[in-house]
Parts: sequence; structure tokens; C-alpha cells
Amino acid sequence: MSYVQIDQAFKQFGKSVVLQQVSLNVEKGELVTLLGPSGCGKSTLLRCIAGLESLDSGTISVNGKDISQLPPQRRNVGMVFQSYALFPNMTVFDNIAFGLKMQKLAREQITAKVNQAIELVHLSGKESSYPHQLSGGQQQRVALARALVTEPDILLLDEPLSALDAKIRKSLQSDLRSIQRDLKMTMIFVTHDQEEAMTISDRIFVMNNGEIAQQGKPEHIYASPKNEFVARFIGSYN
Ligand code: ADP
Ligand code: MG
Repeated sequence: MSYVQIDQAFKQFGKSVVLQQVSLNVEKGELVTLLGPSGCGKSTLLRCIAGLESLDSGTISVNGKDISQLPPQRRNVGMVFQSYALFPNMTVFDNIAFGLKMQKLAREQITAKVNQAIELVHLSGKESSYPHQLSGGQQQRVALARALVTEPDILLLDEPLSALDAKIRKSLQSDLRSIQRDLKMTMIFVTHDQEEAMTISDRIFVMNNGEIAQQGKPEHIYASPKNEFVARFIGSYN
């Protein structure tokens, strides 16, 4: 049994079907990417995993437990968005500490965990800065630390690097990957960028129109696209 199992996920908004019986598995400690053009259902699938939307039918299980009926706060799933969504009136430290304070951890424990997370994302020295004093890349590092500090079972990342310029994006890609490997964190990463998916993923799920068009290791998908959609979509990367 896989760590994350999504079985026959189905979702429609009004008459438009956005997820058509999507099934996929993710192993513990794996980084998989949902890759596909805008509108294919990537964010909806992540939001259903996080509990921000509910499936019309199908199940989502993590570690053998069906979470698809649980409220978001009981799913133990972390999420990072394209817009950093930091609290503007809180320092870096307090932004990261927020979730731990909600869990009512002791103050020394919070300090230790937050400092560890700050070090992990290479933001030492920025503890007292406010979000507006940071670059986009640094703000996204705070968002990452904030999501990781509560030790979620899975981390969901919805186009987290898409708003950043190329150079900063590259360095965050490689930092994210090494953090993921160090922590052995299970991550589901969403992007519409073929090159990013190729660089960062253990496995890729190519999505089209609410379905998985192909899944496999990056080199496999690149070498043997299964149909014309995948070939065109992957081939447009240069
Ligand atoms: P992606 O993240 O791949 O760009 P989305 O999951 O955001 O795709 O959207 C998939 C489809 O569902 C799109 O056609 C979008 O317009 C539609 N959609 C997403 N959220 C809603 C919503 N809350 N209400 C109605 N339609 C929605
Ligand atoms: Mg999206």
C-alpha cells in the first residue's frame, strides 16, 4: 500500500467536470509533480487533498487512513501557495511560529523548532524582519519554513516558484529538493513548467483535462511520451 492513495477522485463545478476519476499513488518520502497546462485541474486536486474543496466521489488516504471526510485542520497536510500569503504584520519568526502557537507548544520548544526551520531554509539573521523587507524568494522560504515547522505528513506546493525570476527560482528548486531529501518529506508539487518538473521530481503525473495523461520518471516521460498531448506538452520545453 502506498503512503498517499488517491482513488477515483471526481469533482465538478456546476456542469463542468474538473477531475475525472483521477487515481494516483505517492510513496513515503517521494517528491511527485502534477504537471499540466493551466485549467487542467492541478490546483483543484491539491485543494481536495488539503480539504479546502471536497470531492464529489472518490477517496484520499494517507498512511492507510481515509482523510477525504476530515476537516482541513485534522488532515496534517501542509500547503505552500504561489502567493506567499504571509502575515504582513508579523516578523519572520512569528510567521513561522504561528502554527506551533496554535498547537499550544511550550515557548522553548517553539523557539527551538522555529530556529531550526529558519536554518533549514537559509534565513538565519532574518528572524526579526517583516515580509515587506524581504525579496520574493526569501518570502517563499518563510512560507516553506512555516509549512514544514509543524511536521506535516505531506507537503503540497501549488506553483510555489512560478512568480519568481529565473535565477532565484533555480536556487529555490535545488534548495527545496535538498530539504525534501534531508527530511524525507513526502511532497506533491504543482507546476505548468516542464523544465521545472523534469529537474525537481522523482515522478511526474502529466495532467490534461482533469485526467492523468501519463505518469512515470522524468526521463521515461521525456523519452517515451505516451500520446500526442504529452509529446507536444513536454516537447514545448526548451
Ligand atoms: P489548474 O490549477 O491546473 O490551472 P484549476 O484546478 O485551478 O486548474 O482549475 C480547473 C478548472 O476548474 C478550471 O476550468 C477552473 O476555471 C475551474 N474551477 C476551479 N475552481 C473553481 C471554482 N471554485 N468554481 C468554479 N470553477 C472552478
Ligand atoms: Mg493552479
